[in-house]
Amino acid sequence: MEFVPGVIAPEELQGDHIWFAFFEGKLLMVQDQYGLMVPQIEKFSLLGIPHGTPHYLGELQNNHCFAVTLETGGPLPPSYVLHDLRRVAMMVDPFLFMIAGKARQVLDWDRNHQFCGRCGTKTIPHDRDRAKLCPECGHTQYPRISPCIITLVTKGDEVLLARSASFPPNMFSTLAGFVEPGETLEMAVHREIQEEVGVKVRNLEYMGSQPWPFPHSLMIGFYAEYAGGDIVLEDEEIEEAGWWSINQLPMIPPQGSISHELIAGYLKKMNANGIS
Ligand SMILES: [Zn+2]
Repeated sequence: MEFVPGVIAPEELQGDHIWFAFFEGKLLMVQDQYGLMVPQIEKFSLLGIPHGTPHYLGELQNNHCFAVTLETGGPLPPSYVLHDLRRVAMMVDPFLFMIAGKARQVLDWDRNHQFCGRCGTKTIPHDRDRAKLCPECGHTQYPRISPCIITLVTKGDEVLLARSASFPPNMFSTLAGFVEPGETLEMAVHREIQEEVGVKVRNLEYMGSQPWPFPHSLMIGFYAEYAGGDIVLEDEEIEEAGWWSINQLPMIPPQGSISHELIAGYLKKMNANGIS
């Protein structure tokens, strides 16, 4: 699929558009004969649900995409449902989930930046960029993105997985944490792992990244080799952590999450090397 991002909608719009509509973080979807999809109609107002001003997102395979906030969660037209965005990640194409995440971040940002963060004056939209301008002091506010490193620590055919109390029962995942001001991604990996489980790592290898719209993270995935130290839990966020054989893994995050991809990628690599 090809997506061309944009900020300002073209003047002449024809045909149907794709609408990413949210109510309290839930995405509006419609069940049709092809399955579950986001609404694709000419004007969103045709649905008769009270809503805010649409924000242009870009073009997906020649269809213009918009984000819009619903003013009410119901009643909805027949066949329409609101789905939690985390669940949507498991139900639709990863690409569609990515645009839905972008839509939600744009809407959240719009709602949270109605006033200048410096002087409190009502902001106005920037004429070209995805930004809000203060007509009083000139301060410009862009959507905020929070980089967050996520790492699979490996030791031969074992991997280090941990769980926080907020996880579903028995689920373990890779270690993650936000990058601090003034830090490189590598520094953040070393610091987070040291803080969360007390071990040292080496030979970091970048794996890939994933926008994660809860609320505005960019997950940056790494592999890191274990270099020393025993697991010590000092961070209250972590309830349990340990080494798991790649042949006997606990429940891990679902497909579509970068944590799953990190673990699956390592398994594939080890199997290719004939270790398991
Ligand atoms: Zn201002």
